[in-house]
Formats: sequence, structure tokens, C-alpha cells
Amino acid sequence: MPLHFKTPTYVSASLSKACGRNVSIKLDSLQPSGSFKIRGIGLACEEHARRGVKRFVSSSGGNAGVAVAYAGRQLGIPVTVVVPETTSERAQQTISNLEAQVVVHGASWQEANDLAMSMLDIADAFIHPFDDPLLWKGHSTIIDEIVEDGLRPDAIVLSVGGGGLLSGVVEGLQRHRLDIPVLAVETLGASSFAQSVAAGQRVVLPTIASVATSLGARQVSEHAFALTRQYHIDCAVVSDLQAVDASLRFLDDHRIMVEPACGASLAAIYENLEQIHGWVNIMVIVCGGITSTPEQLQFWKQDLSGA
Ligand SMILES: *Cc1c(COP(=O)(O)O)cnc(C)c1O
Repeated sequence: MPLHFKTPTYVSASLSKACGRNVSIKLDSLQPSGSFKIRGIGLACEEHARRGVKRFVSSSGGNAGVAVAYAGRQLGIPVTVVVPETTSERAQQTISNLEAQVVVHGASWQEANDLAMSMLDIADAFIHPFDDPLLWKGHSTIIDEIVEDGLRPDAIVLSVGGGGLLSGVVEGLQRHRLDIPVLAVETLGASSFAQSVAAGQRVVLPTIASVATSLGARQVSEHAFALTRQYHIDCAVVSDLQAVDASLRFLDDHRIMVEPACGASLAAIYENLEQIHGWVNIMVIVCGGITSTPEQLQFWKQDLSGA
């Protein structure tokens, strides 16, 4: 039994009206971990469990850490998540509520990750947040569900951080021999994918400067970048304010809370970006995310609009 659920898809009247196209939403925010990540991480954890690992270790204080904690609890395998000091109290609480051990260490993710690596025992499995073929295979089930539902959009819109979701979606599309373009959306301060595509090689961002922390991979995976040479993938970059606004509008319109990492994809529709003008039927992967609250979104909105 997979650890993720099949999620609903429906045409969103408000998103459709905003851009004058048919926009459907694939609600992966409804997964029990609050984001799509349980698809890939759940599959990886199940595989490791079958091989007899005794513990899962993660270094993500975000949605990947939550997904590993959820998977470990479902499989009855202990989980340790090492997070940097910058990780919010709320995220730490969410992870420890799932009975995972939370270790706070270091000023940034790099130091937390170094400690996590040094803790690895022979019987432990380290679960990477985006760069693992097992994850991509798990994420590709999104496309299996779209095919099962008999849907055939003109394009798929999704958010890109390290490129795990993108890799999984393209894997699914290729497996089903579908030739559906993908629009990969990022925020300006986390646009490692768009910048790599523009440069023709993988760039490393010196810093991440975005409220969409789940998109904050300084470098996208080799695999995700290589896919741009064999599949139709377009890029779009939105501002933090646009991503935050989109999350707030989405909450108003659908009563569903998503973080700005997901708001970035929704902003491509709400802002009717030029990149979507060639398409009539668009599907947005609502990737979800638990890291922000409505109050936080309001605070960012005021802060970013200089009000
Ligand atoms: C992880 C995550 C992303 C980015 O996914 P990648 O696989 O790293 O590209 C986007 N949105 C949310 C909510 C996430 O948790």
C-alpha cells in the first residue's frame, strides 16, 4: 500500500476566470504530509524498509522532513531529522508531533546536513529531499492519476526547487508517451533552474533570497537540468510578492492553505503570464506545503509591498 493518496483534480472557476483559460488543479496539498513530497519519499522509505533499514535520517526542516517523519511513523521505523537553528518552532513541532526525533544544529542547512551525514550508521537510510531516482518514480504517480482520470491538459504548471517534482512529472509523462509541455515556475531569489537554462549549464546561486524557502535549492539536480535537453520544459520566474499574493488569493478562492513555494505556480495563472498564452487547458500541480500560516502570508504581503 503506498503511503500517499490519490488526490482530486477539478476545474477551478476562479483560476480559470483570472486568466481566461480552463485551469484545473491537482490538489496534492491534501496529502497527509501537506505536500506532494510523500509520493516520492513514501516510495523511497518503503523500499528502504523492505531492505531492513533501522532508521531514516533527513536534514530538511521543511516538507521533506515532514514527509520522512510521516513515512517513518506509518512504517514503524524511527526517524531523525537534523534541522538548522533557522527552522521555525512550528516546523520543528510538526515534525516532532509525528514522533520523529528533531536535532537542532548549525546556522544553515549545510551544517545541519553535515551533522546528519556524520550520524549515519550502516543500518540507516539518508533520505534526500529531491535528488534520488526513487523519489522521481514516486512523484511520477501524479501523472498516472491524471491518465487514470482521463485528463489530457495542453500543459502542466509546477514549482521547481531542486527539481524532484519536475523530474517525477516528466518521468510519468514519458512513461505514458505523453507530449505535454511543462512550465517550471520559481521565485526570483530562488531561480536556480531558470538561470541554469538561460546559461546553458547548471549555475550555483550564492544565496537564496526568497520567502519560498522550499524552492531554495542553490543548484538544481543534474537530472532535472538534463531533462531540459530532451523534453519541452519552459521556465517562468515570479516575484515573492506575486507568490505570496497567489497563496492568499488561493486561500480566499478555494479555502486551501498553501505556502509561497506553491503560490509561485498559482501566480503564473493569477498573473496570466505570457508563458501560458499558447494554452487553453492548463493543469496546475498544487504542491502544497506546511511551512506558512495565513498570518505569515499577511505579514509577508505587507513587508514586501512596503506598506
Ligand atoms: C519541495 C517542494 C517544492 C520543490 O520541489 P523540488 O522537488 O525540490 O523541485 C515545491 N513546493 C513545495 C511545497 C515543496 O515542498
